[in-house]
Amino acid sequence: KAYVVTVDGPSGAGKGTLSNMLADAYKWHFLDSGAIYRVLAIAAIHHKIALDDIHGLQPLANGLDVTFSVTDKGNRVILEGEDVSDDIRSEEVGSTASQIASIPMIREALLKRQRAFAQLPGLVADGRDMGTVVFPEAVAKIFLTASAQSRAQRRYEQLKAMGQDVKIACLLMDIQARDERDLNRATAPLVAAKYALEIDSTALGIAQVFEIAKA
Ligand code: C5P
Repeated sequence: KAYVVTVDGPSGAGKGTLSNMLADAYKWHFLDSGAIYRVLAIAAIHHKIALDDIHGLQPLANGLDVTFSVTDKGNRVILEGEDVSDDIRSEEVGSTASQIASIPMIREALLKRQRAFAQLPGLVADGRDMGTVVFPEAVAKIFLTASAQSRAQRRYEQLKAMGQDVKIACLLMDIQARDERDLNRATAPLVAAKYALEIDSTALGIAQVFEIAKA
């Protein structure tokens, strides 16, 4: 049976970077569960399905034709034959994904797909409910947080490095709106799993977070 390590926490805490570093270090598989919600958001936009049309979204979630692959260009995400790796990272898609993710039937529909990533020798799973709902039997659980202010600041610097000019105040509002939805939804709200190791990265660099998480 494959070992699973989970990394949960709010948007922008650095879960993706940490999870990728852990997966590289252990030579394990990696699940970016947020990417699945993001791909579903893009599919809904492509197929012109409204975000409150549960009966349209559910079959889309069940039949989602998506593949994840690791290439020399990094992790690639293919939806219905099209490379959407860059498209899924936009703020708009993130916000749509966060709205879709609050629908219990959609979370249920994506469970099996996420669990299928638990392959030998092991898996590092990044998300909001990896340790609480999707992989409760994980051998180690990490809950990575940081203040909303510092998450907005980091996001700002990432976007600036990509040549995008966005106001920090707008990013902060978006992060707070997303936290609000993640914390308050009825199904699988964002909370640290029992026995999770909590790391607050507000004042830590990624190298320090990695050292703590690896140990
Ligand atoms: O982590 P990421 O920002 O890519 O996730 C996109 C959205 O999907 C999040 O805002 C969150 O609401 C949702 N999500 C979730 N459960 C997960 C992963 C992501 O609800 N396990």
